[in-house]
Amino acid sequence: MATAGKSDALSASVLVLNRHYVAIHVVGVRRAFGFLLGELAEVIHDEEGAFANYDFETWREISALRRTEKRPEDDWIKAVHFEIQVPRVLRLLFYDRMPRHTIRLSRQAVFARDASRCQYCGRQFPTSQLSLDHVTPRSRGGMSTWENMVCACLKCNIRKGGRTPREAHMTLVRQPVRPRYNPLMALKLQNPKYSSWRTWVNIGMHEDASHDQTLAQRESPQYEEGTLKTA
Ligand SMILES: [Zn+2]
Repeated sequence: MATAGKSDALSASVLVLNRHYVAIHVVGVRRAFGFLLGELAEVIHDEEGAFANYDFETWREISALRRTEKRPEDDWIKAVHFEIQVPRVLRLLFYDRMPRHTIRLSRQAVFARDASRCQYCGRQFPTSQLSLDHVTPRSRGGMSTWENMVCACLKCNIRKGGRTPREAHMTLVRQPVRPRYNPLMALKLQNPKYSSWRTWVNIGMHEDASHDQTLAQRESPQYEEGTLKTA
């Protein structure tokens, strides 16, 4: 399906439920439409508190009817001959597995946990001006863990260099801890676009009980090698 819509719409997120209506992950719009077109999933649409299930063709017909009453929080994409609303929630028809109960450690997740606030000077920055800092530098055996990684502005990161905070005479705004809830999901839920997710996402579902994997050991699509800037 050719899509040429607003880039906003294409960068939207879609919550994916398993066959038993348990939230398992979040995918991009292209992947979501791939599931729908492949008849692997159906749309779960929030209609004023009631949820309706639609296959792709029905969703397309409903989109055609709704075109005249688009709401600002909705996203739409244009195909060659029609326009279709981006669903917020999909249910996989043949998938039974349950979600992973670990919170993925990633650059974005650390930024979200720290609310894009440099943990040394305490100021907030756009993500382009932030870096990840290993509190105890890796050269001193510091691990890539929730407890040893913080959000730092570029200036503070350079100032700290390959030193510990004590050596650099810098103090942390807050001691970093493993978050109880997935900080990226918490961020999404604040967005009115994704209000329908609240029905399906018990934010505690990502609570991590036991695992203590480090970033390096973990397979994470959100973590891009080479984008980590560390002291
Ligand atoms: Zn700073």
